[in-house]
Amino acid sequence: MIRTRYASEVNEADDGTTQTIAGWLQDVRLMGNLAFLVIRDRTGIAQATVLKKKVPELHELAGQIQRESAVSITGTVQMSDKAKLGWEILPDNIQVLNESEAPLPMGVVDRVGVDLDTRLDNRFLDVRRPEVAAIFKIRHEVIHAAGEYLRDKGFLEIHTSCINAASSEGGTEVYKFQYFEKEAFLAQSPQLYKQMMMATGFDRVFEFARYFRAEKHNTTRHLNESTAIDFEMAWIQNEEDVMKVIEGLMNAIWTAVHEKRQEELALVGAEVPIPKLPFLRITYTDAIEKINKASLNGDRKLDKPLEFGDDIGTEAERILGDVLMKEGHDFYFITKWPLAPKPFYVHPEGKDMGSKLCRGFDLDYRGVELLSGAQRIHEPELLKEGIKRVGLDPTDFEGYLTSFRYGMPPHGGCGIGIERILMQMLGLPNIREAVLFPRDRTRLYP
Ligand code: ATP
Repeated sequence: MIRTRYASEVNEADDGTTQTIAGWLQDVRLMGNLAFLVIRDRTGIAQATVLKKKVPELHELAGQIQRESAVSITGTVQMSDKAKLGWEILPDNIQVLNESEAPLPMGVVDRVGVDLDTRLDNRFLDVRRPEVAAIFKIRHEVIHAAGEYLRDKGFLEIHTSCINAASSEGGTEVYKFQYFEKEAFLAQSPQLYKQMMMATGFDRVFEFARYFRAEKHNTTRHLNESTAIDFEMAWIQNEEDVMKVIEGLMNAIWTAVHEKRQEELALVGAEVPIPKLPFLRITYTDAIEKINKASLNGDRKLDKPLEFGDDIGTEAERILGDVLMKEGHDFYFITKWPLAPKPFYVHPEGKDMGSKLCRGFDLDYRGVELLSGAQRIHEPELLKEGIKRVGLDPTDFEGYLTSFRYGMPPHGGCGIGIERILMQMLGLPNIREAVLFPRDRTRLYP
């Protein structure tokens, strides 16, 4: 048997019994007649205490095993006030399942700082660190809570293709590649497919999606491959119907992490409060007014004031976050954006392209955008105009447009970056911390 107990499972009832624990040898301390071995498994730490007099061969072996080797230790469990954990195991057998090479490319438990690049180059070792593993356990909880909430609200989980004949968004750069005799693109999002699903009768769909974006910039909040919670819902009256679902979804995610992941939050050093509902709605126009005012009087400054039609960039988002957090708002929707900077499928405020405003919105959390969403255009002629508005050619979107010609209901939805959620929720300094194998401008490996 490789293991009969995880470290955290051992309890008083095991006192005096023979058990086997298994994990990585985190540390060995040799002290004259004693050797202390610290073993780390998925659940925590165990200590094995080797008495030289009792098992001289194991005492000798203990001094030879490299740290981070995979070991399985069988022995008698002993409750003890002297042991840090309140118990220890007195080994009869130490099996080295796989010896680690030395030196390690990076320390696992050493307190010396390791830079992010070295950590990402050795991600398998990096994730052995409990505070790093905690991020991915919280990520798991976020995804679990999101799926549960959306399924409960009648959303059907779908998977669409990441290989597209046309670029979905315009705007951001796409990855082109040769698809047999044709040129194809990696999906920037499942946007067009989700919308086509609105013409099927499913009414509500969601997807844990991959976004591929060939953006050349290298920032702490952009990845070239990211994941998202994407949903779309039909038969809506306006974008407010979508925002209500988002509010419930964010509440479900934050509450699940708050309730189930306190141990991991402590390791990461983050506090995740249960959100206050409802979230503030602030119009784009009011938002830029607040930003401009705060930029004049506050510590953070913009080079020049924002004008109607400008995008709200990183620094402006931060300024708004500072102001609204002081007013007690962590989450806030920015609504009624100008139409011009928004993608072609976003519905104008009125019934035609004459509108200056649109039915698109963003949700920000503590000064960073988590998602954008909108009511989408559902009428085919207006959609064609939308495509032309951003300088694209409607004939490239024939398959998509066809699904709008046979009774497409009014609909809307959003795309929520999972890494952005984690970065903001946990206050991570870099979005790369929230993905196992990040892809960025320079990183394609591992
Ligand atoms: P930004 O303005 O922050 O670059 P965007 O406007 O391009 O984002 P959308 O196209 O609206 O973003 O995508 C929806 C969501 O997906 C974003 O709010 C964000 O959470 C996430 N997202 C988009 N692009 C990236 C990226 N390059 N890296 C990580 N997450 C992203």
